[in-house]
Amino acid sequence: MTGLHDLPPLRDVIRTHGLEARKGLGQHFLLDLNLTGRIAREAGDLTDCDVLEVGPGPGGLTRGLLAAGARRVVAVEKDRRCLAALEEIRAVSDGRLEIVEGDALGFDAAAELAPGARVVSNLPYNVGTPLLFGWLERLEHFAGLTLMFQREVAERIVARPGDKAYGRLAVMCGWAADCQIVMDLPARAFTPPPKVASAVVNLVPLAKPRAEADMATLSRVVAAAFNQRRKMLRQSLKALGGDTAVLLDSADIDPTRRAETLSIEEFAALARNVQVAG
Ligand code: SAM
Repeated sequence: MTGLHDLPPLRDVIRTHGLEARKGLGQHFLLDLNLTGRIAREAGDLTDCDVLEVGPGPGGLTRGLLAAGARRVVAVEKDRRCLAALEEIRAVSDGRLEIVEGDALGFDAAAELAPGARVVSNLPYNVGTPLLFGWLERLEHFAGLTLMFQREVAERIVARPGDKAYGRLAVMCGWAADCQIVMDLPARAFTPPPKVASAVVNLVPLAKPRAEADMATLSRVVAAAFNQRRKMLRQSLKALGGDTAVLLDSADIDPTRRAETLSIEEFAALARNVQVAG
């Protein structure tokens, strides 16, 4: 009986199926199965959960997830050229791999995967952040997200107040999850190599958000504050409408401070007061 280990090397898969990388689709493939196996292991125990993989491409990480014992992998790929290569993996997956052709931005993971699902993906750089924000909105559905980003984006996710990279991504992710960079990958790990290094981030959802707030309001406050990150809050928060001085005072925040100095709890306090005022 043939199995995962009998599949041809990924270089051969790419040649056989004519999968020359397309820049517009953010195609930078991982061909080293040791590496994809490591990423799958960083995601934790996959044996009792559904796994979403966005952009399986030729299937290096898909193989890693299946080899790690994933109960069910749903792989959403936009590039039709990859489907035949993925079908070869599906054929030896014991029914554990489902391939979905389409745009992951339109894929409702919370509807298609069982609660407690995990997302494990080497994300296409051009849609990575919108996908992450989509999953954040349904975070209670997920046991964890293990995601490869450009290193600079990974730093923006795990940043703390005062860090140069601290902004909307750090506040929204840190409000809802524990976020950690768990792996660094140099550009040469990919075929073709991108211009920048990459990193894998683990996001582990908190049982409840770090501080009480309505997510949409919090997002609005954080966006206003960081849209003019060099300005004092008494100026940048004017974009929210209402009396900025009263808002800052009610949250006990000095109006001359700048967004980059505020903790997640302080942003949440602002969001609660915006809601009360609204
Ligand atoms: N997982 C593979 C690997 O690690 O070698 C490929 C990763 S590559 C960085 C990104 C993959 O996402 C490509 O296969 C690309 O075709 C696919 N992709 C790009 N945009 C997509 C979208 N909107 N929805 C689904 N897949 C997409």
